[in-house]
Amino acid sequence: MADTIFDVVVVGGGPAGYTCAIRASQYGLKAALIDANDRLGGTCLLWGCIPTKAMLFSAELWDHLKHADRYGIDGVTPKLNWKGVLARKDDVISRHVKGLDFLMKKNKITTFKGFGKLTGPAKDGVHTIEAKLADGKTETIKAKKVVLATGSDARVLPGNKPDDTILTNYEILKIADMPKSLVVIGSGAVGVEFASIFNSFGANVTVIEVLPRVVPVEDEEISKELLRQFKKRGIDVYLSIKDTKIEKNKDGALVTWTDANGKVQTKQAEKVLMAVGRSPRTEGIGLEKTNIKPDRGFVMTNEWMETTEPGVYAIGDIVGGLPQLAHVGSMAGLVVAARMAGKYAKPVNRLRVPGCTYTDPQIASVGLTEAQAKEKGYSVKVGKFPFVGNSKATIVDSHDGFVKVVSDTKYGEILGVHIIGPYATEIIAECVTALELEATVEEMMFTIHAHPTVAEALLDGFSSVEGMAVNV
Ligand SMILES: Cc1cc2nc3c(=O)[nH]c(=O)nc-3n(C[C@H](O)[C@H](O)[C@H](O)COP(=O)(O)OP(=O)(O)OC[C@H]3O[C@@H](n4cnc5c(N)ncnc54)[C@H](O)[C@@H]3O)c2cc1C
Repeated sequence: MADTIFDVVVVGGGPAGYTCAIRASQYGLKAALIDANDRLGGTCLLWGCIPTKAMLFSAELWDHLKHADRYGIDGVTPKLNWKGVLARKDDVISRHVKGLDFLMKKNKITTFKGFGKLTGPAKDGVHTIEAKLADGKTETIKAKKVVLATGSDARVLPGNKPDDTILTNYEILKIADMPKSLVVIGSGAVGVEFASIFNSFGANVTVIEVLPRVVPVEDEEISKELLRQFKKRGIDVYLSIKDTKIEKNKDGALVTWTDANGKVQTKQAEKVLMAVGRSPRTEGIGLEKTNIKPDRGFVMTNEWMETTEPGVYAIGDIVGGLPQLAHVGSMAGLVVAARMAGKYAKPVNRLRVPGCTYTDPQIASVGLTEAQAKEKGYSVKVGKFPFVGNSKATIVDSHDGFVKVVSDTKYGEILGVHIIGPYATEIIAECVTALELEATVEEMMFTIHAHPTVAEALLDGFSSVEGMAVNV
């Protein structure tokens, strides 16, 4: 390998890295991919997006089966087989790991299993990466361009270490038994997804959050609705908390915190999940030998994902200033591949990134929240349509929630769409396209939506900006 000079070497085989390598190869570039894990796919496939949604699907089925008689199906007495839930999740992962191995071969991407490290700036236009392989040997890989895509790790509150009681997303996905009680620290997407899943499976779930609302990056009305739904489902939520302390004991852990009224609260739980954000994985990858100066561990890039070291790009969760989402990383990978190949590309636009939270009910949004739009000085007009007026939502027995459209009065431009309710994470795609094409409320009011679909709630949502939703 020492004699081969690749056009590009991608360090990290998560969604950002493998997408970039595949597209680079499709453009005719000679690509290599290094991953430190024994399986490709990164956090997303092995410990994040995919396993959680596989478990969520089991939880949803379980929720339906618990009252199958409501749908005219009698005699169903479901029994939870936790090992079966985990096995199905693992099966979904394995199939897609195999799929990735196939895609690497199909696209003639040379893969290395090892920990990659930059050795310094390019010499005569060629970078050298050292990869420490699983067998202890070191492989030297040369390439004209380098793409860093090493991802992120779960943050843990200071003084704690993950084990079989204090869990991160990694440990919780393989716990041998369904816990009877769970305290979730943090109410971002990861925290509330696990809270929702484990509540469905019957655990006593408590969520504690330092900020004054759940899913704090979402529109305020979405946060309020999720809180209402969580309370309805029996999930205890404490907001604006401080001074969290975890003391392990023989039954799990005692979690102590000060609530919003200054009162000390305690909760004994079998397991505690840390969902307090993710740190970029940039240690030990040789940044200090380059011009790249990380900002609190994050690699900063320009709009084309170029770092301050010539010929070195960064994509995915390690990049500062972009949401840590699989689809942001993979799109950044596509952008970089196109740029390296000298093809048309469009930078990732933060305001066109859909954010999806897979709770029950689901949340999905794109663009500005009402508060952000006002802060930016827009004259804002808002429309809101409740799913209770949507026939498909009633058919699928999930009519809580609403669609909220934030628009600008001047041109009727759609600035943001915020959904909480059934299939929110699927129907948001239409809203991303609408924003991408700079559609106006009026144009969307005359866009035909099939009937009966949950997506029709969007038609009513857009129409509600003009006070003309039909179905409410
Ligand atoms: C529980 C959970 C649920 C999530 N759900 C969603 C979701 O539904 N939708 C969504 O969009 N996002 C979701 N995310 C976020 C998503 O997983 C990440 O944004 C995404 O995985 C980031 O992709 P990445 O390629 O940057 O990094 P990663 O997926 O972390 O992959 C990085 C890869 O780099 C490898 N690596 C690290 N260092 C080196 C090195 N030095 N040399 C070689 N290889 C190295 C690692 O082994 C890993 O395979 C979720 C995250 C979690 C934790």
